[in-house]
Amino acid sequence: MSTSIDERWSEYDEEDDDELDTSDEDYRGDDRNDDPPDETNEEDTLHPDVSKNLLDWHEGRRVVELGVLAAQLQKGCKKCGTVLHLCDCFQERHYGLGSILYIKCTICSFISNIPTGKRHEKNIWDVNTKLGAGITSSGIGFSNLQMLFASLNIPGVAAGTVKKRDREAGKAIESVAKKSCNEALDEEIKLNDGKVEIRVAADAGWQTRSSGRKYNSYSGHSSLIGDKSGKIVRYDYRCRKCRLCENAKRKGIQPIDHDCR
Ligand SMILES: [Zn+2]
Ligand SMILES: [Zn+2]
Repeated sequence: MSTSIDERWSEYDEEDDDELDTSDEDYRGDDRNDDPPDETNEEDTLHPDVSKNLLDWHEGRRVVELGVLAAQLQKGCKKCGTVLHLCDCFQERHYGLGSILYIKCTICSFISNIPTGKRHEKNIWDVNTKLGAGITSSGIGFSNLQMLFASLNIPGVAAGTVKKRDREAGKAIESVAKKSCNEALDEEIKLNDGKVEIRVAADAGWQTRSSGRKYNSYSGHSSLIGDKSGKIVRYDYRCRKCRLCENAKRKGIQPIDHDCR
């Protein structure tokens, strides 16, 4: 397979989506299916359709957990245990930022599947979840992300994968934020000699860029900051648009069960 990464990316046409494997970590997949590919469960077998998501591993750059890769190579061939070498890799299949390397044993010719990073739950690549957390904290969008990857010559990640991993990371970020607020509230009460009537400063904002006299933002947020601790003790946000609810309303049907804000 000699097609370059950039060529493969530019070949992507959303109309082709129906023909694609829509699995979670699919290179080009969308968000219609949350099941990971079976291939990563069967470490010793090649995917039946070896043409999907393949890359020439000599080209471009990757985000690799060196410790994981080194340990896997050291563990060796899955048939005879001979130490494997990266230079014997003949093919790579990528799932977002993670990859499976197909490495041939120099002794018995058996092909071992070597992952370039850790995975969790149903074979979700940690690196893709970290990407979701990263775009939330940095505030960049999908287009900026693709520009960044293109500049670094790192294979692009499908929009659906980014969205799903963003949502996965978002839940964890929210639960940490709630825990942090509760701890800050306890601290504030303690600093207030145990009295629950505390003084707070309120701050609120919305996302539309303007002079401050425009009120058409799709979302807004507010926070309460403890007077004594200076920490956020509560926060809230409001959205005035939900595509799932709007689509359901337009079609006159009940919206599916979703995390509506
Ligand atoms: Zn072997
Ligand atoms: Zn909704």
